[in-house]
Amino acid sequence: MEIKNADWYDLLQDTNWTPKYVTEEELFPPQLSDPYGIPVSEWETFDEPYKVTYRDYVKTQREKDVGAYSVKAAVSRVDFYKQADPGWKAVLQMHFGAVPFLEFGSVSAFARITRFGRGPGMRNMANFGTLDEIRHTQIQMYFAYEFLSVDRAFDWCQKGLNTDNWVIMSERHCFDDIEHTRDAVTSAVMLNFAFEQGFTNLQFVALSADAKRYGDFSFATMLQTVQSDEARHSQIGEPLIEILVRNGRKEEAQKLVDISFWRVWKQFSALSGIAFDYYTPLAHREFSLKEFVQEFVTTQFLRNLKALGLDKPWYWDEYFVPDVETYHHAQQIGIYMYRDTEWWDPIAGVSPQEREWLEKKYPGWNDTYGKVWDVITENAAKGRTERLTPTIIPVMCGMTGFELTGVAGSKWNVKDYTLDLDGRRYHFGSPVDKWIFEQDPARYKNYYGFTDRLANGMIPADEGLFEYMGMSPEERGTCGMGFKWADPVKRAA
Ligand code: MN
Ligand code: MN
Repeated sequence: MEIKNADWYDLLQDTNWTPKYVTEEELFPPQLSDPYGIPVSEWETFDEPYKVTYRDYVKTQREKDVGAYSVKAAVSRVDFYKQADPGWKAVLQMHFGAVPFLEFGSVSAFARITRFGRGPGMRNMANFGTLDEIRHTQIQMYFAYEFLSVDRAFDWCQKGLNTDNWVIMSERHCFDDIEHTRDAVTSAVMLNFAFEQGFTNLQFVALSADAKRYGDFSFATMLQTVQSDEARHSQIGEPLIEILVRNGRKEEAQKLVDISFWRVWKQFSALSGIAFDYYTPLAHREFSLKEFVQEFVTTQFLRNLKALGLDKPWYWDEYFVPDVETYHHAQQIGIYMYRDTEWWDPIAGVSPQEREWLEKKYPGWNDTYGKVWDVITENAAKGRTERLTPTIIPVMCGMTGFELTGVAGSKWNVKDYTLDLDGRRYHFGSPVDKWIFEQDPARYKNYYGFTDRLANGMIPADEGLFEYMGMSPEERGTCGMGFKWADPVKRAA
């Protein structure tokens, strides 16, 4: 007689018991488990959408790994990399320096939810999530390792996390906030719901589609195996939010989503947005960041949010929607110009044909960001390299850790949103970033961002600045195309 999983699953997954040797409070301290005071009987209603047994889990994961590793073994990755377009190289260099350490961070966040979550089903799902994130870290490190012999940018896959490079600092400030410094309930809302459901599709489904079009099949397959795990474990968020809303905690749940959605959006916009709209070789590019956001965020995520009884974040129409069309264009200018402070070799991505594509996807691009690129292009075409490396350190947002930017050219609207607290002035790139700070000043106020550290003399100037960031001369980014992108303009002049 065969016993089906459904016949025993509910019985076995019920792992709550009454502790004898310690109190309930000692076993699940509220500040780590549930500061919202939801009754245990409510937590026991947590019904995980994916019911997986360990045996099935291992079998499926093994198949995924076999698939990804065999595609990798079939193609010589090193030869592929050597011949790759400079834009695609930039995608890989940036991805492998920026993403695997976040996967590693997620291991600890999931482990905390596994240990301190109050719902048995929640702990079950988080347990598999912990194993998923270990796999994501390992497979990506393994894939990056292969390129080490040809490009030391891939050293940053291991090294990045331990440096105070400004891009890494920006990522850490965001993910430390949402993943590492909160109780099991709060971090699950922020991590599983806002970050994973909201955005991982962008990096893993959208980028994987670009990779396939470009012919990078092993990267595409690897990304797909990662995303299939994300699709499962991110669903911890839904029953969790249902429980919060049902127990009178809608307002708190909404605020957690509003904070984390914006924080993660800024990271994805600046990093994935540039990869989609500037680095992916034009001939293989199909959708813009804006179109990917339309599909995965505006449609899918918003629908899920409303189905759970939450509202769209308060800033959606006024700040998020315009940000989708602007933020990454502004960041791309800074990322390209300050390239020697980055571990990857950025490209400009603004040849005449690329500009046509940008104008088509983002009407008005030529008249705004295009104006800035006109000047950079002229300098590049005339070989004025000294004007292609800024010597001034920009003001950075105290929340995102990215440059303060706005719309350039004819619609100039750059503004510094400031806040004074205990004798210190804080700078923010948007009213939303400032609002997040105001929700919990004690959490954020003692942090010194990159510009603050420079201004306070915590970071030495000139060469010392690179040493502070852990960047030897060979590790600093240079124009991935050696300024050759300006050649058509040079010829036309
Ligand atoms: Mn992951
Ligand atoms: Mn994940």
